[in-house]
Amino acid sequence: MSYNIGIIGGGQLGMMMCEEAKKLGLTTIVLDPSSDCPCSTIADELIVGQYNDLAKLDELGSKAELLSYEFENVDGKALEMLHGKFNIPQGIQPLLDSQDRLREKDNANKHGLPTVRYHNVFTLDDLKEAIKDIGYPLIYKTRREGYDGHGQVVLKSDEDIKKVLPYLEEKALGIVEEKLDFDYECSLIMIRSHDQIIHFPVGRNIHKDGILDISAVPVKMEESTLTEMIKRSEDFMKSASYYGILTIEYFVKGDKFYFNEMAPRPHNSGHYTIEGCNTNQFRELDKFLIGERMEEPVLLSPTLMKNILGRDMKNLTKLQEIPASHLHMYHKSEERPLRKLGHITYNNLTLDEYLSYKEKLNIEE
Ligand code: ADP
Ligand code: MG
Repeated sequence: MSYNIGIIGGGQLGMMMCEEAKKLGLTTIVLDPSSDCPCSTIADELIVGQYNDLAKLDELGSKAELLSYEFENVDGKALEMLHGKFNIPQGIQPLLDSQDRLREKDNANKHGLPTVRYHNVFTLDDLKEAIKDIGYPLIYKTRREGYDGHGQVVLKSDEDIKKVLPYLEEKALGIVEEKLDFDYECSLIMIRSHDQIIHFPVGRNIHKDGILDISAVPVKMEESTLTEMIKRSEDFMKSASYYGILTIEYFVKGDKFYFNEMAPRPHNSGHYTIEGCNTNQFRELDKFLIGERMEEPVLLSPTLMKNILGRDMKNLTKLQEIPASHLHMYHKSEERPLRKLGHITYNNLTLDEYLSYKEKLNIEE
């Protein structure tokens, strides 16, 4: 059977899902609010509409054999409607759980993954109580719709409380958590079907201004810590009854790791898998969706992925002078300094080698 995969969201993650679907002989239909979204150049069909437009979602579901999502903030009510009516191999639970940072962290702890300390914050008294309990430095985060560092405030002293007040005045739901002085960050991407669970090699993630800048794979981590992380993450998926793709972002300090957040969709830190592994996150997700057997991912060589934001465009030519580079641009019409416009993956490149190229080529950020 030739499947038509329906994808909610037409950004770069959807675009790469479509690219891989094509290679597997599948067709794709995408729902996105913008007629020139990244998927518009590759999807077989594009429905232009809002993510909470029930009629458009219904059209998407009716035209596709199965549904998936690359956008995390689909309205809960809309999701429930879809779930009752159409085939969503991944279900909607991981998406609902990931949409609220409080629920997400409670859920991680419940299923065996440690987090840093956090408090639910709705009023100024809640905030003061949290500060008293956890101590500075802290991070305030809105519970819903945060991404790429949006909706976050770092609190270093009482002076910073005023920066949170606008959120409290708007009656935003929020949490406050310990700001961990971690050694580094990493992420683990898994895909679980009814009889398989695969994971992609773990890389180190470096963020700049709360946005992913670089993933360098493999991460330099104590073997026993890495084994424990993979085991606990797989157990988490099973215990929470999640299927499909799930990325967990971790903070690592010494031999301890802390769940930061999760995403039940392909992940930016997994773009390296396209050229860095024998198979990639988009291809294996597509195979999961149509019920095909998945392949165990293997890293082919040390690989580094660099995100290209608007602010990086001035360095693009130099960045392409580093050998074995593979450029992916997302065909976005509007360029903004902090908007993700593309990425470059380098085969055979470690973080140290990348940094020395940066110096040699005079790449200034
Ligand atoms: P999002 O990716 O949804 O914007 P995150 O919670 O992942 O939100 O935060 C973005 C980045 O901010 C993280 O990758 C990390 O670099 C930093 N950060 C977030 N929470 C903490 C924390 N508790 N301690 C230290 N750094 C943090
Ligand atoms: Mg994050």
